[in-house]
Amino acid sequence: MNKDKVFEYIDSKSELFATLSDKVWDAAELRFTEKVSAELISKALEDEGFTVERGIGKLETAFCGRFGSGKPVIAFLGEFDALPRLSQKAGIPSKEESVAGGNGHGCGHNLLGAGALAAAFGVKRYLEESGREGTVIYYGCPGEEGGSGKVFMVREGVFDGVDCALTWHPADHNEVTATSYLASYTVNYRFRGTSAHAAANPEAGRSALDALELMNIGVQFLREHIPSEARIHYAITDTGGSAPNIVQSTAEAVYQFRAPQLHQAAAIYPRLNKIAEGAALMTETEVDIRFIRASSNTLPNTVMEQMLYENMAALPYPTVPDSEKEFMAAISATLPPADSTNWGEVLPYVPSSASRPASTDVGDVSQVCPTAQLDGAVWPANTPMHSWQAVAVGKSETAHRGMIFAGKALAATAIDLFEQPEKLTAAKEEFLRRTAIAPYTCPIPADVMPDMPKQKQAASFGRCS
Ligand SMILES: [Zn+2]
Ligand SMILES: [Zn+2]
Repeated sequence: MNKDKVFEYIDSKSELFATLSDKVWDAAELRFTEKVSAELISKALEDEGFTVERGIGKLETAFCGRFGSGKPVIAFLGEFDALPRLSQKAGIPSKEESVAGGNGHGCGHNLLGAGALAAAFGVKRYLEESGREGTVIYYGCPGEEGGSGKVFMVREGVFDGVDCALTWHPADHNEVTATSYLASYTVNYRFRGTSAHAAANPEAGRSALDALELMNIGVQFLREHIPSEARIHYAITDTGGSAPNIVQSTAEAVYQFRAPQLHQAAAIYPRLNKIAEGAALMTETEVDIRFIRASSNTLPNTVMEQMLYENMAALPYPTVPDSEKEFMAAISATLPPADSTNWGEVLPYVPSSASRPASTDVGDVSQVCPTAQLDGAVWPANTPMHSWQAVAVGKSETAHRGMIFAGKALAATAIDLFEQPEKLTAAKEEFLRRTAIAPYTCPIPADVMPDMPKQKQAASFGRCS
């Protein structure tokens, strides 16, 4: 069976994938609450003949759909979670909320989940028609944005037995993801003091806000003494109140810190804790430290990346339909002037050991099996991730076309891996070489549970944040 037949099959189901993506866009569910989205994709897998398992990895909205038997086992990773406070009407070129204060698919995970599903359907068709031994698994991975859902899944052994994994991310260009993402941690620091009248009884007060300020100053001095490419970000999520005549008895900040290698990020964690404890000691307050999430740096796999590139380059590039040219031009007019080469072609593949200044929970999958990913153009050039523009074009025919393109490239690469076992062997050898340098340990402790969103989420910590 040649790839064209698989592409035809994916095309024949393109309406289904577009509808699914749009319904996930409509549902716009935050991390670990994606019940509607997870069920939509699970049901589509069942209807297609996959054996579906729900609630895997101790996560209610994680699932997998499996087809075939025996080796090799090739996995596609799908995401479907949205972002807080990014509600936006679809199909209009101006910022306008659809639901006041609502969520939105500013990272295109509606397209990501449906595009990976297209790949899984294509490979199932290939396995059926070719009669070849092997298994394809679609992993429904919840809570990428601020949740590191895949890391919890890795921790629970969900990917054990998988030979390799493929995925993609919506973007403003077509390119194999050749650079590595940073390892990343998120930790919450909550200070508790004693309130008092700030003028009448200042000696009775112990300010949690003072402690938080001292912690931030301490971290400011720490920044000089971490690896150059490491980053420490913070957001104050509780100032203790708005009345200056009350000594603030609570204050809270969430810190996110990243580094090219997991061990480098892990080394920052105890140093932050010491600063927080020092700040508490200085102010006679107490600090509660709550580990939220962590994800590892991604391990590149040049064997699979080269295969992805060849399959992307062999496909016709997706184009903007005439009916949407005006809309896309109007969206582009709201963005910085674009490099026109980003759109409508596949950028050259250049293997790289560099890190990109972002993080993803795909990192931990890449630490337990050979993994490769691509960026697929679904947005006009220069569209930032996590922007209203990304939400506005998320249901467009242009985005649907980009999603199908990505699905076909992923499916074709999986077929090559089935057809050319020597390539899979080479990918595994590369994976073993890379993991031998720094053997993997899951960065999320065994007792840490997924962080559910609060009603008013202050920030998101996904790969694009
Ligand atoms: Zn994303
Ligand atoms: Zn994101």
